[in-house]
Amino acid sequence: MSLLKIATAGAGVLREEAVQVAPEEIGSEKRQLFLEDLRETLLDSGGVGLAAPQVFTSLRIIAVSIQEGILDEDASVRSVPMEIWINPIFRKLSDRRAVNWEGCLSIPGYMGPVERPLEVELEGYNEKGEKRTVRADGFYARVLQHEIDHLDGILYVDRMKDMRSFSRDNSTVFLC
Ligand code: ZN
Repeated sequence: MSLLKIATAGAGVLREEAVQVAPEEIGSEKRQLFLEDLRETLLDSGGVGLAAPQVFTSLRIIAVSIQEGILDEDASVRSVPMEIWINPIFRKLSDRRAVNWEGCLSIPGYMGPVERPLEVELEGYNEKGEKRTVRADGFYARVLQHEIDHLDGILYVDRMKDMRSFSRDNSTVFLC
């Protein structure tokens, strides 16, 4: 296992549309080793999510890991044990939207407010190649959408409505 280098804004890979992973490929040794490295890199980063393009790998794979108490001021944040999503797609479950601050491991030192759908349903494959679906809301839904944006070459700053809010990170924002 090894820690992977995290791409920062300006790296071309962050602006590419990532490639689908063939389900029969998920079990291969090469893919499994990559998933181990992706998990390890996410844990080491202290972030809550990491997408494959953020480690210079243009594949539709994300890792999410939310530890309880990560946002002290928000008691509604539930913990999510480390999970892998391969070829994830989401649809919004309602028209409810919310604005919250986001940070990104690929834009270190900054944060900005982003409006996103509040409730989504996610579908994809896990690390065993099993298809699964989950309903997510609040913080979890936000992290999933931020990560899936990375698979489409989108950074959170692209979704900010007012760049005057783009700020130095005050260390209370989560990173993904
Ligand atoms: Zn990010």
